[in-house]
Amino acid sequence: MASIEMRNIVKQYGDGFPAVNDVSLDIADGEFMILVGPSGCGKSTLLRMIVGLEDITSGDMIIGGKRVNDLAPRDRNLSMVFQNYALYPHMTVYENIAFPLRLSKTPDEEVRRRVTEAAEVLELKDHLERKPANLSGGQRQRVAMGRAIVRQAEAFLFDEPLSNLDAKLRGQMRTEIARLQRRLGITTVYVTHDQTEAMTLGDRVCVLRKGKIQQVASPRELYEQPVNLFVAGFIGSPPMNFLPATPEGNGLRTPFGTIQLDERRAAAVRGRDLLLVGIRPEYFEDASLVDEAKRPLGSLFRARVDVTEWLGDSQFAYIPYEAPEAVTAQLRDLSRELDSEELRTQAIVSIDSTSRIREGREAEFWLDSRKVHVFDPTSGENLT
Ligand code: ATP
Repeated sequence: MASIEMRNIVKQYGDGFPAVNDVSLDIADGEFMILVGPSGCGKSTLLRMIVGLEDITSGDMIIGGKRVNDLAPRDRNLSMVFQNYALYPHMTVYENIAFPLRLSKTPDEEVRRRVTEAAEVLELKDHLERKPANLSGGQRQRVAMGRAIVRQAEAFLFDEPLSNLDAKLRGQMRTEIARLQRRLGITTVYVTHDQTEAMTLGDRVCVLRKGKIQQVASPRELYEQPVNLFVAGFIGSPPMNFLPATPEGNGLRTPFGTIQLDERRAAAVRGRDLLLVGIRPEYFEDASLVDEAKRPLGSLFRARVDVTEWLGDSQFAYIPYEAPEAVTAQLRDLSRELDSEELRTQAIVSIDSTSRIREGREAEFWLDSRKVHVFDPTSGENLT
């Protein structure tokens, strides 16, 4: 197993904008790192440069302490698991797993030992004589991983391995990959544009935008401390609400009323003009269900509820609001970039399923203002 270090990696195709633009990233030995971002952000290109399928324009790629820029893919000893698993349909599971060992002319006895060992770990022992067509999607995925394990590769690299599957199978496979990676402890780099995969699989997540790293952090930190509007809008479903806001005393005036800020947040926004306040849907509650003791810790709003969606364990309420054109234009751009329909000028509020709020009526909401984020609308920087 090996660590992967990237130093100022650039990939330039033709004379356009660099596909990967000065990326420096350290992936520790045994770590599960996710590369995530919208289409075209450069994640596949970065993965292909790690494997050696793409030349590096400048910078250093260091695997297991060794610079590999000029090494051919076969000499890097990495194992890439593709979207379609690339299994040979005419070969049995045994021969599919054994394939890389046959290529390297490993003696039969050694092949048998390693394939049996991999099949044991992957719970494929009873399927070794089957052909891929007679396996479930999950089993095929394990065969593909088996091929990676027998080679004793330094790292696993996955390029959107689940994107061709239906939602149910995708969920199962996600759990399977997470379990295997933890069991094997092999350094893993996993590319996806799916934020659920990003949040559930990785030890750390690297968010990319237009070839540049935005933030590298644990899933929890990304969710709770996004560095900018882009990361804040990308992570979380339904997405974070962004409301126009202007400082007012120790608070922020928003279309829903004034949000009281704690001293740290108030100091960060003092003297500022127009801002965007970021509020996750679950920071709101139906005010009538909030404890007396907790009420003073947050802010109260009255608003008219447009639509409600009851989900069993919670419900969403949609609350439209007016915003200046500068803000709506920016939210429109961000939505387009994130390929999200949802960052419109309506707030999405997630409240308890027992709440009695009604569509078309006013309701009172409580907001946990200790959790809100405040963003500079021009740079997108999180000021809090
Ligand atoms: P997706 O999720 O759509 O696969 P991605 O984040 O993996 O996107 P890349 O495939 O790495 O993005 O592409 C990054 C940028 O580089 C894009 O603008 C793409 O058009 C460009 N690009 C990728 N491959 C080539 C190539 N062979 N020649 C020219 N430009 C390329």
